[in-house]
Amino acid sequence: MTSTVPLRFPTRAVNIGNLPMGADYPVRVQSMTSTDTLDTRATVAQAIRMIEAGCEYVRVTVPGMKEAENLKEIRDALRRQGYATPLIADVHFTPKIAEIAATIVEKVRINPGNYLPLDPSRPTSYVLEQISDRLSPLLKICKEHGTAIRIGVNHGSLSERIMDLHGDTPLGMVESALEFARVCEGLSFHDLVFSMKASNTRVMIAANRLLAERMKQEGMNYPLHLGVTEAGAGEDGRIKSAIGIGSLLADGIGDTIRVSLTEEPEFEIPVAYNILQAAGVRITKTEFISCPSCGRTQFNIQSALEKVQAGTSHLKGLKIAVMGCIVNGPGEMADAHYGYVGAGKGKIHLYKGQSVVEKNISEGLAVEALISLIKASGDWFDPAP
Ligand code: SF4
Repeated sequence: MTSTVPLRFPTRAVNIGNLPMGADYPVRVQSMTSTDTLDTRATVAQAIRMIEAGCEYVRVTVPGMKEAENLKEIRDALRRQGYATPLIADVHFTPKIAEIAATIVEKVRINPGNYLPLDPSRPTSYVLEQISDRLSPLLKICKEHGTAIRIGVNHGSLSERIMDLHGDTPLGMVESALEFARVCEGLSFHDLVFSMKASNTRVMIAANRLLAERMKQEGMNYPLHLGVTEAGAGEDGRIKSAIGIGSLLADGIGDTIRVSLTEEPEFEIPVAYNILQAAGVRITKTEFISCPSCGRTQFNIQSALEKVQAGTSHLKGLKIAVMGCIVNGPGEMADAHYGYVGAGKGKIHLYKGQSVVEKNISEGLAVEALISLIKASGDWFDPAP
């Protein structure tokens, strides 16, 4: 077991249009439209709602040739309205669809499990040749247009050949991606991103960890896209996504995330940012540390936390602690920038870092005093109008 916090798995930067991912770039947030891709108006409207919520890449499903051709209408309508957000085409079965999409959008997702119907009885060398033959026109187009590719493996759609070789396992998922990646590398194509998705969080976590290990062994450094498929909706879907994605982010694995909920896609975006913040990999708001309170608490900690949050939730990057008592509070809020800590009946001590700076303030005055302290310390800025 490591005694330090894992560093981010070092990946290469891959340009997705005007917004690179990987390397030291922020872990990107993406989602996918749920409209009919032939319905340009509905797809553009939904994409705009996603972008306004903070979505950094918009993926669109492309099941057929007509949808591939309609990507141009969708892209142009978004650009006309001032949205430069990169688009991703999600392609499963037909290389020709991917080839058209690659001339229009910034990234194409292909699924090795169903991109090529490969005879499971053929030897691996023959299969690799087949993959190479089928991929090379797409890679040529991607090179010409600066289009990236995601090799997106799903646990539920591994090829028959991979199932025969490795079973329905994380190893099978990893091998399925790596053989496509080796072919891409053989054709000097490196603008790749990987994903290993499953609805079972343990399978998804194991596959991504194994993939990171195998990449290290093979000298690969492609960015990783994380997601739990079919996570559900409501609290269950959010917790499942947080476990799957968050466990890997805590390992230092992950360059872009998609939270999949059976809800409108714009609702996925705040969840994604909350997961990133909770994993400590991308800070987008004030972080609040607060204890559950216990018999030592002698003030109304729930309403105090609400008031502190209402007054300071725009202070992105600050950690503010609201703790029930001075016995354990100061130690538990160790890395907070400011602390609001119960000191006796209706009395609050304020802390800056680990130092107590104001003592025994009446509960009714303490939130204002905390804000004054933050202002006096130079950490305040006014909320955006
Ligand atoms: S910090 Fe104090 S009040 Fe809060 S749970 Fe711990 S012991 Fe109880």
